Amino acid sequence: MVVCGDRRLKGRLDEPFVGLAAPSIEAVVGLAAEEPVVLWGGEPTLRADLPALLAALPRPWLRSDGLAFGRAAGSLASLLGGVIVVLPSGRRDASDWLLGRAGATKAVVAGIRGARDAGLEVAIEIPLTRPTAPHLGETVELAAHLGATAIRLRRVTAEGLDPDDFVALSPRVALLEGPLDEAARIAGRRNIELSCEGLPACARGSVEALVPRWLNAEVGSQSGRCGSCTGPDSCAGVPADYSERFGWEEFPPPELPRGRVDVSWTPDEPTRLVRTRLAAASQHGLPIRVLAQPSLHHADLAELLRECTRLSAVDLELFGDLSGLEALSDDELGRLRRFDRVVTGAATPVLERLHRCTRGRVALVLELEGAAPELPYPVQVRPPGEGNPAGSRSPD
Ligand code: SF4
Repeated sequence: MVVCGDRRLKGRLDEPFVGLAAPSIEAVVGLAAEEPVVLWGGEPTLRADLPALLAALPRPWLRSDGLAFGRAAGSLASLLGGVIVVLPSGRRDASDWLLGRAGATKAVVAGIRGARDAGLEVAIEIPLTRPTAPHLGETVELAAHLGATAIRLRRVTAEGLDPDDFVALSPRVALLEGPLDEAARIAGRRNIELSCEGLPACARGSVEALVPRWLNAEVGSQSGRCGSCTGPDSCAGVPADYSERFGWEEFPPPELPRGRVDVSWTPDEPTRLVRTRLAAASQHGLPIRVLAQPSLHHADLAELLRECTRLSAVDLELFGDLSGLEALSDDELGRLRRFDRVVTGAATPVLERLHRCTRGRVALVLELEGAAPELPYPVQVRPPGEGNPAGSRSPD
């Protein structure tokens, strides 16, 4: 498969975000000599140079949103092996919402009919979304009625999406079992090849896995095999974007890694997203280090640090540049007494405030070369880097 664009279609939240630079025409032509090629990325039918590109390849497939395919099919048919059209749902209202305009589903259906009338083989791609997944059976029926020979189901991924949009759009995997079973039953009865991309093995049921092959890159990552999984060895585990947002309650959590979990945030990161990461970090049952790198600054810093103290970490450390703490009130600083230690590189005034507000209950550690400075509060001194055990890992 070849990717020839690197962004989501404007206004299309369900579209995969690949983030790859478009390959050169020479690379595509070279690949086409070895295996069948599918062109996609953006909307290929909008490219003025599409006929020239198709003519350079041995009847590639095209992935299209289908909206304009009804008009283009006649002129492109002789250059194509087939077309993959994205049809979000047989339910027009939900499908129009995903496609971004009223009447869009009708245009897609017309595009599919146009492709069939032009003699092209048609595969239908169905994104699995929260509003449309319950009606998957109807969509598969519609695809069969329109003459599709294959149906590809696709999980919506978080990359490039606003976190709130991902949560709103991604169906919980555990709720897909019924719709997927129904889809498999209908596809079997209608003799349609059914495959699914992006769902772990235990969630796919009898639906075959579709492994997309992208030019020059691997796309997507998994969290590793689940702890007590007895499923097929071929499953690489839960997609990382899914477990980060929805946790592990639908899967056996992964084996405990050894070492320590590092957590950090950036100043403009949504609080809810950081919270989710903190919750994921606590599931390892390991020491947690909150890394103030590049800094601790965040509009909700007090709340995030409070969240840290609620984690069931076996050891909780704050490490790095403490300047972000200067904006906290004495009460807020006092709550840091639930940290086991605070490690920093300089005895700044906020360290003294921290000692006072926590009533000396949190261990203060200075990482310094040379002799310990004289300070009016107790600190431990150690060489820089001494507290970095092998095996530290980030949940990111
Ligand atoms: S590794 Fe996890 S996601 Fe994969 S089949 Fe096993 S339990 Fe399911």
